[in-house]
Amino acid sequence: MQLLNKSDIARLRQLLDQASNVVITTHMSPDGDALGSSLGLANALYAMGKDAKVIVPDHPSQQLSFLPNFKYIEIFCSNPEFSTKQIAQADIVFCLDYNALSRIDRMAKAVEESPAPKVMIDHHLDPQPFCDITFSQSDCSSASLLTFKVLCALELADAIDRDVAQCLLAGMMTDTGNFSFNANDPYIYKATAELVSRGADKDRLTKLLFDTFSADCLRLNAYAISNKMDVWENRGAALITLNRKELNEHHYRPGYTEGLVNKPLAIPRVVYSVFLREETEYIKVSMRSKGDFPCDVICAKYFNGGGHRNAAGGEFRGSMEQCVIVFKSLLDPNYENYIKNNRNIPI
Ligand code: 5GP
Ligand code: MN
Repeated sequence: MQLLNKSDIARLRQLLDQASNVVITTHMSPDGDALGSSLGLANALYAMGKDAKVIVPDHPSQQLSFLPNFKYIEIFCSNPEFSTKQIAQADIVFCLDYNALSRIDRMAKAVEESPAPKVMIDHHLDPQPFCDITFSQSDCSSASLLTFKVLCALELADAIDRDVAQCLLAGMMTDTGNFSFNANDPYIYKATAELVSRGADKDRLTKLLFDTFSADCLRLNAYAISNKMDVWENRGAALITLNRKELNEHHYRPGYTEGLVNKPLAIPRVVYSVFLREETEYIKVSMRSKGDFPCDVICAKYFNGGGHRNAAGGEFRGSMEQCVIVFKSLLDPNYENYIKNNRNIPI
C-alpha cells in the first residue's frame, strides 16, 4: 500500500474541521464500492456531527438498499435543480470512486462549477485534475479501502462505528469479488479485521452482496448463460449479449446483471469476457479478464470507456449488431501468445 501525502491529509483535516455541510458524489450506476465508500464516509461525518449528503447521478440498485442510510441518498436525475444547488452550497464536495467528470454524466457541470473545494478518493488510473485534493491509488483494490485509509490518516478512526464499518467492508468485498481478486495485499485483511471488530457483519454482507437474488434476476442470468453466451475457446474469448426485449421479458432492474460478465471466466481457456446490454441510448459494455489482458485499454479505444486492467467498461453508440461486429473484429488472433508469454493467467 502506498502512503498518503501528509500535506494533503493536513489540508483535508483543516477543511473538515471548518465544514458543516458536506456533499459526497459518486459515479453513475453506482455499485457496492461506489455506495459503500460514499455512505461509509457520510456515516463517519454524521458520527462527527456534520451534515453529509450522498448525491448520485442516477438510480442505484435496490439490491444495495441494506447499506446503512441508503434511503437518504439523493438522485441527481430526479431533481437536478435542487441537487445542483446543494452541490453549489457545500463546504466540501467529495468525489468517490471516479477519476473523471465524464463518469458522473449530467451531474458533471454541477460538480465542476461548484465553488466548494473538491476532494477525490479513487483507485482508477489517470485521475483527471478537477479536484483540489486528490487521493488516487490505482494499486488499491477499492475506493472503500482507500476511504478507510484516509479516515485513519485523518485520525478519525473513532468515527468508524458499526454503520461506517458495514459500508466500507461492503465496498471492499464488492471490488474484490469477496476477496477473490486484487486481494493479495495484507493491508486489506488488517482493515477487514478492524472493520469487523467495529461491528461489520461479514457473513451477512456475503449473503446480501453475493447470494441474494430475485427469481426474475436468477432466471435472466440463467437465460443469458444458457442461450446468449458465445465462447471462442481457441481465442480465449466469451461474449454475452442481452437486448431490450430480453431484458424487459425478465422484468430487468438495475443490478440484475451485476457479475454476469465474470461467469465465462470460469472456463479455463477463456481469458477475457464481454457482456453487452442494450440501454435506451447506447450499448453498455462490460469487460473482465485474467492475467495481463488489458480490458481498460480495449474499452478506452473501442468503447469510449476505461477502468482497470481486469475490469473495465464503456458505452457503444450504435446498435447491438454493430457492437458485436466491433467485438468480433477484436478476437485476438495472437491469443496463443498471451498464454505462452503470460505466466499470470491461471489456467
Ligand atoms: P462494470 O462492468 O461493472 O460496469 O464496470 C467495471 C469497471 O469498469 C468500473 O469499476 C469502472 O472502473 C469501469 N467502467 C465501467 N463503465 C465505464 C465507462 O463507461 N467509462 C469508464 N471510463 N469506465 C467504466
Ligand atoms: Mn471501485
